[in-house]
Amino acid sequence: MADCLFCKIVAGEIPSTKVYEDATVLAFRDVAPQAPTHILVVPKTHVDSLDAVTIENAAIAGWCLQAIPKIAKLEGLTNGYRVISNVGEDGGQTVPHLHFHIIGGKKLSNHGGF
Ligand code: 5GP
Ligand code: ZN
Repeated sequence: MADCLFCKIVAGEIPSTKVYEDATVLAFRDVAPQAPTHILVVPKTHVDSLDAVTIENAAIAGWCLQAIPKIAKLEGLTNGYRVISNVGEDGGQTVPHLHFHIIGGKKLSNHGGF
């Protein structure tokens, strides 16, 4: 997607602090971290959000999910962490490219969010 911020980050057109990459997924540090560890996991193929996941393209979301425990290990999140995917305007999604937040590095509240 030509005008998509995360597609541009995947393409290397916008710099990011990479923490993990494989053939399908890129993970990088959130520019405005809400916790000591705050990483965004994005598929290299554009999908708008979880709301656009279907049986045909579910593997794209799965690429991200398989990467999450690897990234958590790399980051030393041995005591747990939170995974969030905001969907659409009411869900607080600001970048319309599917992504999963990995939040951790401290004891998080039980009330969701960050
Ligand atoms: P959303 O609100 O869509 O769930 O999450 C988008 C996230 O992307 C936000 O947490 C925001 O801080 C982060 N973000 C926005 N622009 C950039 C950027 O240019 N670089 C990085 N690394 N993160 C960004
Ligand atoms: Zn995109």
